[in-house]
Amino acid sequence: MIRRIFSLLLIISGLAIGLMASAFYLLNSETAPLVGSGHQIENPSVSPQQLTATFIGTTTLLFSDGQSSIMIDGFFTRPSIKTLMKGTIKPDIPLIKSSLKRLNVAQLDGILVAHSHHDHAMDAPEVARLTNAPLFGSESTANIARSTGLPEAQIEVVDEKRSLLFGHFKVTMIKSKHTPVPKPLAWLTGHGKNISSPFPSQPKLTDYNEGGSYVMHIQHPLGNALVQASSGYIDGLLDAYQADVVFLGIAGLSKQPDQFKQDYFNATLAAVGAKKVIPIHWDNFMRPIGDALVPPHSLIDDIPQSMTDLSDYMSHEAKGSFILMQAWDTITLY
Ligand SMILES: [Zn+2]
Repeated sequence: MIRRIFSLLLIISGLAIGLMASAFYLLNSETAPLVGSGHQIENPSVSPQQLTATFIGTTTLLFSDGQSSIMIDGFFTRPSIKTLMKGTIKPDIPLIKSSLKRLNVAQLDGILVAHSHHDHAMDAPEVARLTNAPLFGSESTANIARSTGLPEAQIEVVDEKRSLLFGHFKVTMIKSKHTPVPKPLAWLTGHGKNISSPFPSQPKLTDYNEGGSYVMHIQHPLGNALVQASSGYIDGLLDAYQADVVFLGIAGLSKQPDQFKQDYFNATLAAVGAKKVIPIHWDNFMRPIGDALVPPHSLIDDIPQSMTDLSDYMSHEAKGSFILMQAWDTITLY
């Protein structure tokens, strides 16, 4: 009960502060990256002409070069505050199916999960099942997937760092840090805690411990992108990576000191040499995606302020641009 009350407090204060080949080739180093996809490129000698990204709220992103497609997180259900309070939460399978249909996605080459909180991980096993894709994430995310009966052959665990190949994409998942949260929220959301097996078949919000947070570097012959889902960072972690485009999580950023914001932008945007930034994780994920995302109340998380801070950083320090995407928007990155 106390956890339920805290979960209400948490939600109110913004949890947001928060292919057909016969086999996979499983290797685990930078020099010999994993061939992550079970799907062959129809004509590998033909170079892709463009790389697009579609945003579907929170940190759910679809990347495609016309030959291979990968999805980050794949969170569609977005349980309401009422549902989160009721106890158990479960993926809305008809909604996931209709969303994938709207995206014109019948199969994916991989689904990559940033961390194990419900707003990142709860739908990913269903998306994997519906699109015949391998799912990549922490051991905690793997345990969520196992609880849904996703076949073990479709589950891939990432530890500190792992590079994955999907057609022309090379994606490196790098363990970083989650957004810092106040102690009571850290306790409630299992900040820094893993999910052991078995994960409950009827999970509650509070069962979704963080389980380690990843930043994803997407390398492609047309150009690179970085997906920083959660607004946490480790100094120097991304210095060896380049990306013109950064999808930057800003949930909870308005609650951090100015120095944190500056350090966060430096450790992510400046580190990879970003020329364009697209904010993600700015919407109220307890409301349906619908046709337009809305931010949480500014008292909970001052998203307009975070967007202003980000936009100012890009124009004054990075000399780059700020692009705002709404749900279902597709942008040609390269
Ligand atoms: Zn989180």
